[in-house]
Amino acid sequence: MIKLCKALDVVLDNASLLESETIPLNEALNRVLAENINSKDNLPPFNKSSMDGYALKSTDTGEGQSKFKIVGSIKAGDVPRTEIKKGEAIKIMTGAAVPKGADAVIQIEKVKTCKDELEVCGKVCEGKNVLMEGEEIKKGDSVFERGTFLRPSEIGMLASLGYGRVQCYRKPKIIIITTGDELVGVDDKITEGKVRNCNEYALVALSKNLNVSVKSYGIVEDQKEKILGAVKNALEEGDIVITSGGVSVGDYDFIEDVLHEIGADIKFTSVEVKPGKPVTFATFKNKLFFGLPGNPLSVINTFEVFAAPAVKKMMGRKDVINDEFPVILEDDFKSKGDRDNYIYVNIEKKDGKYYARNTGMQSSNALFTLTRSNGVIIIKKGIKSVRAGDILNGKFIFK
Ligand code: AMP
Ligand code: MG
Repeated sequence: MIKLCKALDVVLDNASLLESETIPLNEALNRVLAENINSKDNLPPFNKSSMDGYALKSTDTGEGQSKFKIVGSIKAGDVPRTEIKKGEAIKIMTGAAVPKGADAVIQIEKVKTCKDELEVCGKVCEGKNVLMEGEEIKKGDSVFERGTFLRPSEIGMLASLGYGRVQCYRKPKIIIITTGDELVGVDDKITEGKVRNCNEYALVALSKNLNVSVKSYGIVEDQKEKILGAVKNALEEGDIVITSGGVSVGDYDFIEDVLHEIGADIKFTSVEVKPGKPVTFATFKNKLFFGLPGNPLSVINTFEVFAAPAVKKMMGRKDVINDEFPVILEDDFKSKGDRDNYIYVNIEKKDGKYYARNTGMQSSNALFTLTRSNGVIIIKKGIKSVRAGDILNGKFIFK
């Protein structure tokens, strides 16, 4: 049994950044840029009105009232042909190009008009309500560096910069294999000795949550040859293979045997973590293999603790490990003290501090508890009980 931090180091040491690929911008959300982005244009590309109003020369306005002749109207998208002369104004819509000669726009709400006459009260400053060409970004400026995580704001920015396709790090393909002769399908009736297969769905959802490609091979019976065949195929097809169940010491737990038979490099088979002690990690060529325990809470916990950071690293993300922060306990909790114990809780922020409440039984099958939780607190190995008021490290889950 190895320490959790050691196990995570081993996983991350073996998770390498994938190669890059050029993809349509609409597929780039939550991916990581593999190229530096420079602006091809000035933004805004022309002097642009930020208001519906009248474009004029600021020098034509003063402390009192100033009168102007309205000489036309410009809408967004139009090219202004006229040049504003002294004493003239032109009606202008938000987003339209400010015509030559004008250096300010006065808002429509602040003026009086009568036929083609405009009356302005007070001084309008130079540049008022005008977004100057290149004031946001200049042609050639560096906008994003390789390694930038693409959120909706970056996607929008890339579109304004004219990048319809971008180079991003490839997302890993995860293959999921679910083992267990006791499993029946989600639409099946539970007959004697059987349980519904929930891990396959949870693992697909955990993978989708990370924006990777995921394929499930479905349920594979607890027969060594069948598991061997499925694992071999999966290691051919995917970048990461994740199995559920079959990693304990039971007579029908074949994952470790299969890994030996394939010649995989087994890095660890048990970790000081609860839930999820029998988690197994191996590499095969440049592929990663996670053998996760079958209990529904263990499978999710070990995915989050070990597989998710590896996936993020392979996709080029920098937030590989979710931030931990101090959490004040509102209930007492117990632990055996033999492993780092992940307790699923509800974390709430009150007056700038985080508080954790018990959400129910913490046994490795207690998936219902997890549905009532939004975070986890970690009782470190060696500690057997913590009390309300104590402070532990915690984090939010599924981030
Ligand atoms: P195992 O790790 O294969 O020994 O399984 C441990 C426990 O998890 C057993 O009680 C199994 O019935 C349960 N289990 C295993 N796989 C699944 C699954 N896919 N869905 C629901 N429960 C499972
Ligand atoms: Mg099993």
